Amino acid sequence: MNIENFADVTVLIVDDSPVSLEEIFQFLSNAGFKVVMAADGESAIAKAQDTNPDIIVLDIIMPGIDGFETCRRLKANPLTQDIPIIFMTALSQTSVVVKGFQLGAVDFIIKPIHQEIILARIISHLTIQKLQHSLQEQNLKLQREIQQRQKAEAALVKANMQLKNLATSDSLTQVANRRRFDEYLEQAWGISIREAWFISLLMCDVDFFKRYNDNWGHQAGDRCLYQVAQAIKRVIKRPADLVARYGGEEFAVILPHTPEEGAMMVAQLIRSSVRELALIHPESPISDYVTLSVGVTSTVPLRDSSPDILVAAADLAVYQAKELGRDRAVFLPVKK
Ligand SMILES: [Mg+2]
Repeated sequence: MNIENFADVTVLIVDDSPVSLEEIFQFLSNAGFKVVMAADGESAIAKAQDTNPDIIVLDIIMPGIDGFETCRRLKANPLTQDIPIIFMTALSQTSVVVKGFQLGAVDFIIKPIHQEIILARIISHLTIQKLQHSLQEQNLKLQREIQQRQKAEAALVKANMQLKNLATSDSLTQVANRRRFDEYLEQAWGISIREAWFISLLMCDVDFFKRYNDNWGHQAGDRCLYQVAQAIKRVIKRPADLVARYGGEEFAVILPHTPEEGAMMVAQLIRSSVRELALIHPESPISDYVTLSVGVTSTVPLRDSSPDILVAAADLAVYQAKELGRDRAVFLPVKK
């Protein structure tokens, strides 16, 4: 619909008076509109559906169904409900006007019709209609943009999570990496200081891993590390505990809220879990299978202390376990 060019605009005039109908038809046609006429309500409804006019000018008093009923039916039909309706009436009582607006009319013109007035009203309502349509279009466009943005945001959140996972996990063994270990130990240490309660650390070293690699090759070595990591992980069930690859063939387990006895129990469970894997290790002088040396330490950290002392004690404990013949867990307290 282009209201600068009336030839694009179809007006449906409905009036039971042939004289009045003819007069309005002539005037609007001369003004350049495409004009469709109906002499009663029933044919108005049919023509509204057939010609899809941009606006309807509707007489109220008509034989058969009157203008009000015609309006009600047009508004009840999804095909015609959005077409603006202007009533024409000789009745200017408030009650009549109010009823017309309640039925969904956009305006009233009082008979006898002045040509300039009917033209001005038609143009004014076509303009409003056009603005409404463009608002609706903009609204739709905005909603689509919002949906697209929400989709993009969801994808970004997912990518971020994947990235965070990549940044914090060891790709070979699928447990936490060294960076995550350092970060988490710092946090857990701080919490232990505040709670004045135990934190324990386990260092698990695969015995004679170099010989395993030399014997079976590096790919088998990688598979062995993955299986050992997963065997350790199966034992660690509390959400606050963390299994990490500390380096090479060494895995660390942080156990917050855990004193010595609990930590030693976890160490023995880990050793059993790895033994159950029954990974054959012909070059090991101490066992037919892959075994672990586990260093265990535990402390209630002092204010302003560093978790480095926990790592140092666990390292020393692993060293002692190796010295004592490997395939065992050794506890050493933290030197304060
Ligand atoms: Mg009439």
